[in-house]
Order: sequence, then C-alpha cells, then structure tokens
Amino acid sequence: MSIQFGPDYVRAIAPYQGGKPIAEVAREFGLDEAKIVKLASNENPSGMPESAKRAMLEAVAEIARYPDANGFDLKAAISAKYNVPSEWITLGNGSNDILELAAHAFVQPGQAVIYAQYSFAVYALATQAVGGRATVVPAKNYGHDLAAFAQAITADTKLIFIANPNNPTGTFLPAAEIEAFLDVVPPQVVVVLDEAYNEFLAPELQYESTAWVKRYPNLLVSRTFSKAYGLAGLRVGFGIAQPAIADLLNRIRQPFNVNSLAQAAAIAALNDADFLQQSARLNTEGYRQLTQEFDALGLEYIPSYGNFVLVRVGNEDDAGDRVNLALLKKGVIVRPVGNYGLPQWLRVSIGLPAENSIFIDALKTVLG
Ligand SMILES: *Cc1c(COP(=O)(O)O)cnc(C)c1O
Repeated sequence: MSIQFGPDYVRAIAPYQGGKPIAEVAREFGLDEAKIVKLASNENPSGMPESAKRAMLEAVAEIARYPDANGFDLKAAISAKYNVPSEWITLGNGSNDILELAAHAFVQPGQAVIYAQYSFAVYALATQAVGGRATVVPAKNYGHDLAAFAQAITADTKLIFIANPNNPTGTFLPAAEIEAFLDVVPPQVVVVLDEAYNEFLAPELQYESTAWVKRYPNLLVSRTFSKAYGLAGLRVGFGIAQPAIADLLNRIRQPFNVNSLAQAAAIAALNDADFLQQSARLNTEGYRQLTQEFDALGLEYIPSYGNFVLVRVGNEDDAGDRVNLALLKKGVIVRPVGNYGLPQWLRVSIGLPAENSIFIDALKTVLG
C-alpha cells in the first residue's frame, strides 16, 4: 500500500479547470496561433491600458528590489477612489487570493461555508482547502437565492460567498436585496461580496458596496484588476473590510503577494477612467451582438451583467462538451461548464466585434 499524504479533504479536491491557453489549442489541433480566438476566461478583449503598460515599463528599472510589502501607493490610490481608509484594504495576488485568505482566516475544518449552486468554482476550492463543509444553496433562476441563504445559516456557519454579478451565469442581485440580506446575517458570520464584474454594470445598477463596509463590520468586498481593467496576467486584486477582518487577512497573506509591476500597473489602470469607460461600452455592444445572434438562432441564454454569456447549445448532457470540441477544432476557445453542473451550456466571453463574429460563424457551422 502506498503512503497517502495530507488530509482527506485535500486529496478530494478536483483541480481548477481554467480556459485553455491559445498555445495549447494550437499544438493540440495543429492550428495557427494567430488565427485562434479565445473567449474563455472573461479577459478584456482590448488588452491592457496603455497607461498601465507605461507604468510597468518604468517600474522594470527597480525589479531587482522586493516590492513594497504594504503596497502603500496602490492602497492610497484605492483609498482615494473608494473613500475608505488604507488600513481597510488588503491587496491580493488576484482577487482569488482574497477569497482564499478569507477561507484560511475564518474557517476551521468542519465549519460551514455557504455559496450558491452555479457560482464561482473558487468558492468550493477555497472551502475544501481548509476542510470546510460546503453548504451549496440551490440556485433560483440560475442566480443567488438570498432568502434561502439566510435559511441555510447555522451556528457553525463562518463564511458566505456571494458573487455579484455571478460567474458563470452572469446573474445580478440588486443592491436592495443584498442590503436586506446583510441586515439578517448574524454579525459573527463573514460575508464576502465578490464584485469581479462590477465595472461592467450600467450606471443605474451601480451601488456603493464600499460604503456598506462602514455599516457592516462582517462584510468583505473583493474587486479585481483582471477583468474590466485588463490586467489578468499580472494577478492583482483587493479586498475592503473593516480592520477586524482586514488585519487578519494581512497577517496571513504572503508578505510580497503583489509584485511591483502589478502594483504600478494597477495604480495607472485605476486612474484610467477612459479605458474603463471604453471597455464597458465595447462590452455592451458585444453583448448586443452576441445575444441578437443567439435570438436569431433560437438559442436560450441567461441575461448577463458581466462580460460573458451563458448559452445553451443543446438538450443532451454531452452538448456542451461536444460543441466545445467542435469549436476548438475551428480555433475558437470558449468555456464548457459541465464542472459547474451545466453540461448543456457554454460560457462565452464577450470579445471584439470581429472575434464575436468568428465565434458566431463557427457556432452556426457546428450546430448545422
Ligand atoms: C474572474 C473572477 C475573479 C477574479 O479572479 P482574479 O484572481 O482576480 O483574476 C473573482 N471572482 C469571480 C466570480 C470571477 O469570475
């Protein structure tokens, strides 16, 4: 009998499945990398802001030195933009880091963590990594059912994850629903409000979650530079919470968890309102383009508030994987979501108009 290392709950973890890299698809299917369209990881199709690129090139000169472990300048920029004290901010190696830090800080083996069916895969991973017990609340119309969340809270619930907008379904909870929920959550239960797609929300849907942090000492809001800000490869995100939470996260994070290029680029991106506005506009147009085509093809999709759309490509339980493979052969990478319990669906990130067209043409051919 061979030795098994580590606890059972770690061995039970299924590794995260990311979007396939372009180079890998080119190798596997014998395709030209330049012709491959990747709409699989909700990245910004415009690329990074020029302002961030310039900031990074400048920061390269100091790369032999360790980064600022406290991220002073980036925290100052976030503090100014969101009107919260710097001490309330935790920087993360992507916002994934913030989600994991929360699980490590607040959950012991056997304690309960609540999240929704069809919500972000990292919630399950972070819970399992600390031996937490997942309470998965059935989705309502593919989104969060916060009334059922409230019912699911027990004496050993330590942490709750909410994604708004949600990934992979793109559903959105209006501010009033979240506030009503925060009002009924026991004060010792930490709520992580993951707002990775916040910057894509139309102005009339925007709400001041960072102001809620002042009212709710158990609230941790997380944001990322990976999506609308176009810096996914750098790995930088942040959390905002009162010191009782922020202090703990800052104690257990790696001292240099955000590298110096990422810190410099994030400051530039945060202040680049034009880039953000353009990205949001492009996204709105791309959403219209894709959903008009889905409507014309008679394909069901979930109305999305993010930079991606979940579309049903068949009624059989191998539809997602089958259509995905056929699209890969045509050089189009999207995301199958069978691992989320949605085997008939594909998640398509909204790309540039030309990329969306290539995807739609390929989809039409594949679906016959
Ligand atoms: C993409 C995404 C994140 C952000 O991940 P990073 O680690 O910041 O790149 C967080 N939450 C959700 C729901 C996401 O879809």
